[in-house]
Amino acid sequence: MGMTAEQIAHQLRGRKQPSGWVARCPAHDDHNPSLSIREADGRILVHCHAGCEQDAVINALKARGLWRQREPERKRVVKTYDYRDEVGTLLYQVCRTEPKGFFQRRPDSYGRWIYKKSPRQVLYRLTEVLEAPIVLVVEGEKDVETLRSHGFVATTNAGGAKAPWLPSYTEVLRGREVILIPDDDAVGKKRVLTIARALLGKTAKVVILELGTAQDITVWFEQGHGELELIAQVEGQQVTS
Ligand SMILES: [Zn+2]
Repeated sequence: MGMTAEQIAHQLRGRKQPSGWVARCPAHDDHNPSLSIREADGRILVHCHAGCEQDAVINALKARGLWRQREPERKRVVKTYDYRDEVGTLLYQVCRTEPKGFFQRRPDSYGRWIYKKSPRQVLYRLTEVLEAPIVLVVEGEKDVETLRSHGFVATTNAGGAKAPWLPSYTEVLRGREVILIPDDDAVGKKRVLTIARALLGKTAKVVILELGTAQDITVWFEQGHGELELIAQVEGQQVTS
């Protein structure tokens, strides 16, 4: 638990001012209250108008047990996605957090987590991609898992639509049929165009499949569409659901 500016001011017998509190500075022999204390964005700010260094003021407050900043809000990891190399060794994880956010972590040689991006970035579900003649590329691991649950081989890259499409990703897809399914937004469409340009001439076939009625493939399946319809759309057939 952190202390509030008011609690610190109270302990220092300070008095309220319009923008915070003023109290006698604990870092110097202060007869004329010269320490201002206020809060901004949940943090406590102190300033000695007599000229004490910030560190000196904070150390003096700490010595009196008056300086405990609130812990920043911890994000809870609610889902992890493993990224593995060609032989299945874990390279890194994408962690999804609540409140919503994403970060990467990678294991060190002792199995502890290093909270940094892996220097080697690979396509998600790489071992499956390497075995598949036809690969669907979507935006995000959740959509890959949706497609896998319907029997397709799918992939994505960590970091979402804004992460770069690496030449090594193109190499992995070389010679395969690739179906790109953009999220139904400007960023998603731009990403797919970037990927399509990179793949042209290197893959057996590139198909861009726009879902139209759904933001992404997970929502599309939730709307009641099925596997056969997806296959039919890829093959360019008209189907009625
Ligand atoms: Zn001072």
